[in-house]
Amino acid sequence: MSQTLYDLIGLAAGICFILALKGLSHPKTARRGNLIGALGATVATVVVFLKPPINNLPWILGALAVGTAIGVPAARKVQMTQMPQLVALFNGVGGGAAALVAIVEYLSLGTEATTAEVIFTVFTVVVGCVSFSGSIITFLKLQELMTTRPVVFPGGRFVIAATLGAVLASSVWVVIELGTTPLLVLAALSLIFGILFVLPVGGADVPIVISLLNAFTGLTVAASGYVLQSTLLIIAGTLVGASGTILTRLMADAMGRSLFGTLFGAFTAKPQEATGQAEERPVRSGSADDVAILLNYARRVVIVPGFGLAVAQAQHTVRELADLMISKGIDVAYGIHPVAGRMPGHMNVLLAEANVPYDQLAEMDEVNPTFGQTDVAIVIGANDVVNPAAQTTPGCPIYGMPILEVNHAANIIFLKRSMRPGFAGIENELLYDPKTMLLFGDAKASLTKVVSALKAL
Ligand code: NDP
Repeated sequence: MSQTLYDLIGLAAGICFILALKGLSHPKTARRGNLIGALGATVATVVVFLKPPINNLPWILGALAVGTAIGVPAARKVQMTQMPQLVALFNGVGGGAAALVAIVEYLSLGTEATTAEVIFTVFTVVVGCVSFSGSIITFLKLQELMTTRPVVFPGGRFVIAATLGAVLASSVWVVIELGTTPLLVLAALSLIFGILFVLPVGGADVPIVISLLNAFTGLTVAASGYVLQSTLLIIAGTLVGASGTILTRLMADAMGRSLFGTLFGAFTAKPQEATGQAEERPVRSGSADDVAILLNYARRVVIVPGFGLAVAQAQHTVRELADLMISKGIDVAYGIHPVAGRMPGHMNVLLAEANVPYDQLAEMDEVNPTFGQTDVAIVIGANDVVNPAAQTTPGCPIYGMPILEVNHAANIIFLKRSMRPGFAGIENELLYDPKTMLLFGDAKASLTKVVSALKAL
């Protein structure tokens, strides 16, 4: 195959990636965008085999087979609620792979490497290793295989600063000495830095760090594209780097955090215990019939879905309830918090699965001013995203995060199984509010009962 044809096919794959991102930016076109991206990735993988010479073919095919055997079942089986862990793991593997490729390329170039190639190699090794070890820690945190709370130790910030200093010093060493030992020392120090960098981040902020590490991996891939002289890697890496950076900013804004506060806030925060356990205080619990009566006489109802709706897979049942209310002339909207659930856009994806019309979904800024005129806010498996502590309790893990202000509605109904707190592990005062009614049970079972009771009225 001629070089021109090879480059043109690479360009076509790059265009597929750009169109994929464009498609993914709207729920209506997201599925098509995903397919276009997959097509681009397939073309990019296959085209490599069309340009001889191909060395180490059995190794490459073996690696493809192992990757496919692990990746396909993992992606098929993963629950939507475990998606951030999967993204963390795949992202870490991507960063680690880029670092390994850079190391191998550096060793094969030897003393012939130009200064620019060495600098790009150093960058790829450092950022790829940080991304790999950092992503493994985020995976362990989200999978709750280790504590989700910030891990800080005396003098921690000085240890982090010293490790960063050592990484920079050994980067200079690699550029000057051009040897294997400095490169391996650099890789080891970068792996340690990646761990130290993520340990102080608290559970609720881990998704922001995953997105940041994802952006890092993109930059690593772009830099290795320079060393390998692959335009396609430069395009793909830059797209991931840029979109990852934008997503990191959007998520940090949605959680009311600065990036610096997310990464290093634990060193300056006052120690605060997560309550984890609910207090023994009276609450007003009701039956499905009580909830149905309240809804039947409402003029406006806002449904607030959260993580528990995804756990219960109650998206179809909630749509049935909304349709029933609309048929009774009730004004119904869904209030969508940007970080409800466990991944960005989680509630949009979940409700799209049940064909909930997009015009019924209202974003936080749009729905918040309407809670004062709302008769019933029905909170289904959500907790942190409606917790007023985010506005009233300085120092709590979600302080500063904008919330859906259901506390301004005339009545609040919570559908949950127990008095346990949400992801951030903190008590929600709203559960004890006199205008709150709790319907205990799995969200799907409770909604099914409410639908039957409302039909009977
Ligand atoms: P929360 O985790 O705050 O609360 C979920 C609630 O759902 C819990 O109170 C739980 O109570 C209830 N629940 C769980 N399973 C069921 C079930 N089967 N039926 C009924 N209720 C159930 O969720 P939110 O959506 O309010 O907030 C999301 C949190 O996750 C935020 O803190 C956010 O920062 C964080 N996060 C967000 C990410 C994102 O990108 N969207 C990624 C990772 C974290 P009970 O056990 O009593 O039933």
